[in-house]
Amino acid sequence: MNEINVINLNSIGLKENIFNSLLELLRRTSTELTKDVTDILYKAYDDEVEGSEAKYAMKIIKDNLELAKSKSAPICQDTGTVLIYVNHPVGFPQREFMNIAKEVVIRATELGYLRQNSVNSINQKNAGNNIGLGHPSFHFEEHEHVNENEKNKIEIRIMLKGGGCENVGMQHSLPNITIKANRDLDGVKRAIIDVVAQAQGKGCSPGVLGVCIGGDRSSGQLESKHQLLRKLDDHNEDPILDKLEKEVVAIANKLEIGPMGFGGKTTLLSCKIGHLNRLPASFFVTVAYMCWVHRRQGIELDKDLKIKSWLY
Ligand code: SF4
Repeated sequence: MNEINVINLNSIGLKENIFNSLLELLRRTSTELTKDVTDILYKAYDDEVEGSEAKYAMKIIKDNLELAKSKSAPICQDTGTVLIYVNHPVGFPQREFMNIAKEVVIRATELGYLRQNSVNSINQKNAGNNIGLGHPSFHFEEHEHVNENEKNKIEIRIMLKGGGCENVGMQHSLPNITIKANRDLDGVKRAIIDVVAQAQGKGCSPGVLGVCIGGDRSSGQLESKHQLLRKLDDHNEDPILDKLEKEVVAIANKLEIGPMGFGGKTTLLSCKIGHLNRLPASFFVTVAYMCWVHRRQGIELDKDLKIKSWLY
């Protein structure tokens, strides 16, 4: 068995295996939504009133999903920012991994799984291969293995985060007099609902929220996106936050904003909330908004760096 902490990702066989594993992960992330997401979308379709604009919008969403899957084509023309999260053992060669992952992104762009989407912010040039400063975006986390079986475990998750939904994400600093939000859980709830109300269906609702209570401005942003990696049908380990997640969804779905802002019962599919410590002087509530094209998928690799299992 390979010892991961001495693994050479540039050895021919392993490089080929991890390249293929990542390419398939990227293909599937772009073209298929995971079951936890489709289950909730199909239920939303069933719940909307027959003949309504909301039902029509949900039907288009449903048809779009089935077509994209059958043709192995991107679900949406905006294939988003490529966010790569790696949970790895001690000594994992991050630099070699990043080099291979960039080659995978280039190949996925050539194959049409990704649109030529990444633009230089100064000269507005598009290299056409989705490679540039900060793109793709890598997030590494070294795990503490709890037993011998988990020692060499490598999990890789990819999220494709669309630009339209990214635009409607927001960070509130509490207290906020305008929305009557104090530095307490009621204030947090008001801040989250304000983000949904301000979006008014823009960012392609129905959406999913990832929320971070606390942290500084940047750690709050990272954690709010990290919450979007949770399964939609999971339960928050913290009963207070579990209750808050459910309340937010219930309140948002009474706003009558609906799919794509057409009105209706489904404005929010899910809300996932985490928290970080904060300084006494600041209280941020950071909301990452994900559109209905909630593209994130993950794999665990085997010892040969082939796909061992899917995480969603
Ligand atoms: S917000 Fe989502 S569904 Fe809307 S265009 Fe962007 S990626 Fe597509």
